[in-house]
Amino acid sequence: MININNINLYNHLTLIKNNEKSSSGEFSAFKYGYNFSRDVADFKNKNVISFSGQKLSKALEYVQEVKANNKLFSLIQFDSQKLDGILEGTVFEGISLENFKFLCEKLENILLIRGCSNSCSHCCTNAKPFVPGKTGEINTMGWEDLKDLADSIGEIKNRLTFNPIEKQLIPFRDGDPLHLKSYDDKGKPHNITEAVKYFYDKTGIPLYLTTSGWDKKETWVQKAAEELTENTLKIPDSINNIAISINPFHKYMTRSVELEKASEKAENIEEKMNLERLSQQYRQKYVDRMSNVLRTFLPLFEDRKAVLNIVFAPALKKNSGYDLNATQQLFKEIVENNSGLLRYPCNVRQIIAEGRAGRFFDEFKLPWNDRDMKHELTIDVNGKVILINSATGKITPTEMQLNFRNKDKKSHLGQNE
Ligand code: SF4
Repeated sequence: MININNINLYNHLTLIKNNEKSSSGEFSAFKYGYNFSRDVADFKNKNVISFSGQKLSKALEYVQEVKANNKLFSLIQFDSQKLDGILEGTVFEGISLENFKFLCEKLENILLIRGCSNSCSHCCTNAKPFVPGKTGEINTMGWEDLKDLADSIGEIKNRLTFNPIEKQLIPFRDGDPLHLKSYDDKGKPHNITEAVKYFYDKTGIPLYLTTSGWDKKETWVQKAAEELTENTLKIPDSINNIAISINPFHKYMTRSVELEKASEKAENIEEKMNLERLSQQYRQKYVDRMSNVLRTFLPLFEDRKAVLNIVFAPALKKNSGYDLNATQQLFKEIVENNSGLLRYPCNVRQIIAEGRAGRFFDEFKLPWNDRDMKHELTIDVNGKVILINSATGKITPTEMQLNFRNKDKKSHLGQNE
């Protein structure tokens, strides 16, 4: 269980110091993150007015008053008591203003999809494929919930006259957002481009996407990606980046590298040739897949809306096929089919020693010493607010729950099952 003393989430009121658990057994960074008894005493001293029955209109009056006096800075500096009611009728209703402020300031991810079938051997979140069929479990944010969330942020933005969330958001952690298929109440599926469009239209908040690609025959994803290119050209601010990951760790390439290694140990020529042929087939499958991805996003490279992320394993003997040399060779093969890309810079970096990537390191040790201290504040597919340790992927639930239609469903937790 996580040590709440070490949670490194900036808190504008007081540092998280309490190590207690709630009655449900969950650590509540939010409940204990603030000095509630001190706040209550403060509120009593201030003789706070009750807005009972007219909370929202009083809150709106207060916003106007602050605006008229030109004292507007950011949500954090508003008096929470006087804003009481501003969340009425939204998915955030029921959450305290202090927690809402904290959420807006520190929110990083809104998970639209959980679980991944790419099975990359370097996956630092240990993502697993979602196996449908478990009653009451979801791995995708429902379309109505996604719309309610965007509408709510948009509505609060209108009420406040400024955006309470002033940054990009990331709609994934252990899944590939390009594969999103979110169903509405009538059973109609919606793709990632529809999600980006709707979210940006209502909130003005750009999303940051990353993808490990798709096979061309996956027509749902191919169509979504083509639409995404078109939409990003039309509304560039709706996306900060689409980062395309090229690496030798995707399941096709891992298979190819391992078959190649097995062929070197084969006892007879027939077996060796067979393994080499299979290895080449998997490699070609990956090259074709990624070549198609790059072609699809090609118009977005000029303005750096699409970028390439190249990752490789440390230079150890056991990592042949996965090291920088091997990765450069693979990259060359893929880019040869898209030579226009050679003039654009790409991000090249070594993988981090987390999750499944541990196998590529001699010593499974983190490059930083505060692994328990980095947490990402995240809204899960069911509207539950969770903390994800960005070093270990470990999830800690908080007591915050948005009013989602799927709030009683269990989220597919991937690595934390
Ligand atoms: S690295 Fe990304 S694409 Fe690969 S399995 Fe993990 S979540 Fe999926």
